[in-house]
Amino acid sequence: MNELFLVTECGPKNRRVQYRRDHLTGLQCRIAPDRVRRSINVAHRPDAPEDEVPCVFCPERIHSETPVFPDGRRIAVGESVTFPNLYPFAQRHVVTVMTEAHNPAVITAGQIEDALRGQIAAFCTDDGYVSCNWNYLPSAGASMLHPHMQGVADEAPTYYAGLAIDQSAAFCRRTGRTYRDFLIDREMGGPRHLFGDELPFFAHAVPLGEKEVRAYLPVRCIDELEPWCGLLAEGIERVESLYRGAGHYAYNMALVCDAAGKPDGGFRAFCSLIARINPGATGMSDSAFMERMHLEPIVLTLPEDLAGLLP
Ligand SMILES: [Zn+2]
Repeated sequence: MNELFLVTECGPKNRRVQYRRDHLTGLQCRIAPDRVRRSINVAHRPDAPEDEVPCVFCPERIHSETPVFPDGRRIAVGESVTFPNLYPFAQRHVVTVMTEAHNPAVITAGQIEDALRGQIAAFCTDDGYVSCNWNYLPSAGASMLHPHMQGVADEAPTYYAGLAIDQSAAFCRRTGRTYRDFLIDREMGGPRHLFGDELPFFAHAVPLGEKEVRAYLPVRCIDELEPWCGLLAEGIERVESLYRGAGHYAYNMALVCDAAGKPDGGFRAFCSLIARINPGATGMSDSAFMERMHLEPIVLTLPEDLAGLLP
């Protein structure tokens, strides 16, 4: 065992992902050297492949050129299509393409709901820590312009999910009530309550990013989310229009769940969105949902390889 950090690995041989945790601070990162091959660190020129239509997520190609689950299929719900990520950085990592349109002017609540249902279908029997995430537009870290969600599941939670789950359990032991109940009691009808009663959406008091909005669900795991998809999607659409009205087009979303295989410690799932301040329509940001919502960066280079890069 390393005295400075904990390291574990997952993934097939040519797509290894290292998980590292700093023993001093508990902070975590993931290192995915093979993601370099995706050319995500080259400059996006205006004539770069981004303008190649149809892209692999467009209806002309998605049904023949994207990976399939072990049973040979993809999950279709409404317009959405869900399949394994070709470049995973989690033990289980799926992509849900949300719309047939490559770059739709608006994404409707119905399309968001179908995408969430696709993610749920992919993970409903998973006993790990699941989150459903969305980088909307390259300036929010999306590597493909075509709107898509990403679901990830691991045996251990991401850094921020772990904090929220552990501290919710500690709160519940201390006070005998869930933190969700406590927070809703305090925030309902107050200046940060944006809308919603059964499923309230609040401006988050200590934001992770610009204009963070959170919805607090009354359930713990992904397999319990299905009845809430409609209300959640309507709320997400409303937050999207709030962002557009305020001049933001790009945003990140994370729907954080507990592990079905673990006992109920009092954590309840929440869905969080942050607006991004667009640096430019074609520029792809190197910070996406893992960096901004889970506080667990994905990096490309092993620290042990840096010395070899010295000139
Ligand atoms: Zn496309």
